[in-house]
Amino acid sequence: MDILKAVHLKKYYGSGENLVKAVDDVSFGIEKGSFTAIVGTSGSGKTTLLNLIGGLDFADAGEVIIDGHSIMEMSKEELTVFRRRHIGFVFQNYNLISVQNVYKNIVLPIRLDGRKPDRDYIAQICGQLGIEGKMDRYPNQLSGGQQQRVSIARALAMNPDILFFDEPTSALDPELTGEILKVIKDLAAEHMTMVIVTHEMNFAKNVSDHIIFMDDGYIAEQGTPEEVFGSSNERMQEFLGKFG
Ligand code: ADP
Ligand code: MG
Repeated sequence: MDILKAVHLKKYYGSGENLVKAVDDVSFGIEKGSFTAIVGTSGSGKTTLLNLIGGLDFADAGEVIIDGHSIMEMSKEELTVFRRRHIGFVFQNYNLISVQNVYKNIVLPIRLDGRKPDRDYIAQICGQLGIEGKMDRYPNQLSGGQQQRVSIARALAMNPDILFFDEPTSALDPELTGEILKVIKDLAAEHMTMVIVTHEMNFAKNVSDHIIFMDDGYIAEQGTPEEVFGSSNERMQEFLGKFG
């Protein structure tokens, strides 16, 4: 069953000579419990697409349906609440609040949702992510990899139906990248529904159920890792060639 459906999504920027078709008539479904990787060169529309399906941005046309709810029909306020309760986001630069400790960072969305956080539950999530001893630290007292785990904990604490990652390891050195990929792989093994934009092609190949290759605003190829890596699509071949 598809937990998310993107139907004829479009998002253009600028006009005339400066028109950029960032996302141009993109349709696909995401199955509950599956792992989807969105790949493609820089500027191909990956972030724009992720923001549209994750409700961070409104499309110019098309539909996004999550759990049967059409997010294009929601008001800004309704979407904010829906996003908080159904959708988790993890960004390249963690987006942590520097003047608040780890615990306060993690429970902020729970508080914004008008609920009282349960410290034991948060400690349990932090334990799973290997940051149980860091709850009273401040972000600048942590490594990049630990900060990224905090941002993953913050997303998980809301029990999202879908978790989105936009290049979660792009700011990390190779060792810390490996740590974070391991965390994401463990979540995939638990069948958390996830969508990740990544340049880590080996990871995408090994972990994904579905890979979407974006090229110039549209989906040039998609399918299982076997289908996509074995594709004869010229743009796909050219892209894969860059990763050896
Ligand atoms: P990717 O994440 O694959 O690198 P993006 O989705 O960020 O690609 O960008 C796709 C295209 O849309 C690029 O040409 C980019 O310059 C353009 N773009 C993205 N966001 C904006 C914006 N807010 N205003 C104008 N152009 C944008
Ligand atoms: Mg991007």
